[in-house]
Amino acid sequence: MTPPLLLVNARQVLTLAAASAKNGPRRGPDLRELGIIENGAVLCIGGKIVSVGTTKDALRDPWLKKNRKKVTEIDCGGKVILPGFVDSHTHPVFVSPRLVDFEKRIEGASYEQIAAAGGGIRSSLEAVRSAAKATLTDKIIAAFRDMAAHGTTTVEAKSGYGLTLESELKSLEAIRDAGSRWPGTVIPTLLGAHVVPKEFQGCSQKYVEIVCTEMIPQAARRKLAQFVDVFCDKGAFTAEEAQQIFEAARAHGLNVRAHMGQLSETLLAPFQRFDPASFDHMDHLNESDIPMLAKSDTVATFVPGANYFLGMKTYPDARRLIDSGVAVALATDYNPGTSPTLSMPMAMSLACTHMKMSPAETIAAATINGAWALRLADRKGSIEAGKDADLAVFDTEDYREIPYWFGANHCTLTAMNGIVEMPR
Ligand SMILES: [Zn+2]
Repeated sequence: MTPPLLLVNARQVLTLAAASAKNGPRRGPDLRELGIIENGAVLCIGGKIVSVGTTKDALRDPWLKKNRKKVTEIDCGGKVILPGFVDSHTHPVFVSPRLVDFEKRIEGASYEQIAAAGGGIRSSLEAVRSAAKATLTDKIIAAFRDMAAHGTTTVEAKSGYGLTLESELKSLEAIRDAGSRWPGTVIPTLLGAHVVPKEFQGCSQKYVEIVCTEMIPQAARRKLAQFVDVFCDKGAFTAEEAQQIFEAARAHGLNVRAHMGQLSETLLAPFQRFDPASFDHMDHLNESDIPMLAKSDTVATFVPGANYFLGMKTYPDARRLIDSGVAVALATDYNPGTSPTLSMPMAMSLACTHMKMSPAETIAAATINGAWALRLADRKGSIEAGKDADLAVFDTEDYREIPYWFGANHCTLTAMNGIVEMPR
């Protein structure tokens, strides 16, 4: 049983509690509402938040007065408490960094040129296919721990560097095993349709068949995945193939999400019948899809770490989407090729400087809307009674410093389902 936990004296507690009665992801001006309590406290019992308010009120609580000795009490004097980040897009199942791609890109090679020369996603395949499951598990746990040290308490983790039935299931098992040894929350996603593997070049339909008739049914039956993801773009899977994969996912009771619009535009309207939780990247988007997205609970998830690391001059048009009422989230896209960072504050900083999102908007996009993107908003993403005790404490006087001090980590504590870890 997790001991009760009391955090007191925080200069700011960002509750992210809904300002209005509207249920759903935060949109438009609501994205800036952080529900800040000054000189705040949070009480957690049994891995759940039971109350949040001022420190003065918390210390008057009759239960606390009687039970104070049983409670782990942490003085957060002068610091900021916020909901643990929900990183809704990561690829942690890989063996090695891609240093050759990194150098080639610096010398001027494009994403497509690197892929054509045998680099890119395909170059991570061999190592994952031949790796022991325990090796993958160890790599994933190391990443999860590092994420928690940066304030992340919920992670979506994709397979996608095996691309055979056996290695995709092995990757999902490694995610499950790593998740069982980490106090945070892990949402597994099957990304069998990451890229067409070399063996199927020129006959991608055969590979799509394997994804639909072997990978998805087995991942669903063995409860190894909650979502199915597709990389829908030029050089990856077509819109028709992606819909075929979504069809199979829904038929097997799995929810869907997709990499969309990273390199080129795909019309999104035909995908809405599958009720996708999230479209991720969204650098390229057809104007006609914006009103449809604004009406839906599908979240547009930005991963500016990839734009940064690819040395791009352009970023998604976050302002246009937010001001049109589209629900947006931020994620790291942690992966060895295009976004080797697991820092949500770094993603937030990039969103401020390159996408003109306000610091407050980046906080909501990295917490409550990340939770919506994973369909977890009833449990995660805000500090409200009844939700999971997932908290991050930053040694800053003001929340705006979190994206401001880019490249530095000011997280001093995380609580994951009520279990405390102190990175420093
Ligand atoms: Zn990705």
